[in-house]
Amino acid sequence: MLGFITISKDGKDPEDTRYHCARCGAFLTDGASRVNINGADQHSYVNPSGIRCNFMTFIDAENVAASEEMFTEHTWFPGYGWRFLACGQCYAHLGWKWETTSSGREPDSFLGLLTDSVESVQPDPDE
Ligand SMILES: [Zn+2]
Repeated sequence: MLGFITISKDGKDPEDTRYHCARCGAFLTDGASRVNINGADQHSYVNPSGIRCNFMTFIDAENVAASEEMFTEHTWFPGYGWRFLACGQCYAHLGWKWETTSSGREPDSFLGLLTDSVESVQPDPDE
């Protein structure tokens, strides 16, 4: 019976799913850009303020702006520092960008987009 719910073999959104800023609708990235970090592309962490953050990880996105300052404290991914990531069009907070702080780590950077800050648009299955 498990085969009945297998839309894609690992349960991901289809690769042609498109992700947009939930506030202004700017296109950000697509399902093909999702990347596994520590074995998963969906993550849930509690930040130092006690707020639970659910996000998906992507290798890259368009129309985003990362903060100039990079932080290394409170990182959820050891070996990576982080920057705030905002929509490049409306400046809504979308999540974070992590960049490696030591060489030889793969990937050397990736993005985390908050599930509440992005709108996913599924392709029409009839097309
Ligand atoms: Zn926006």
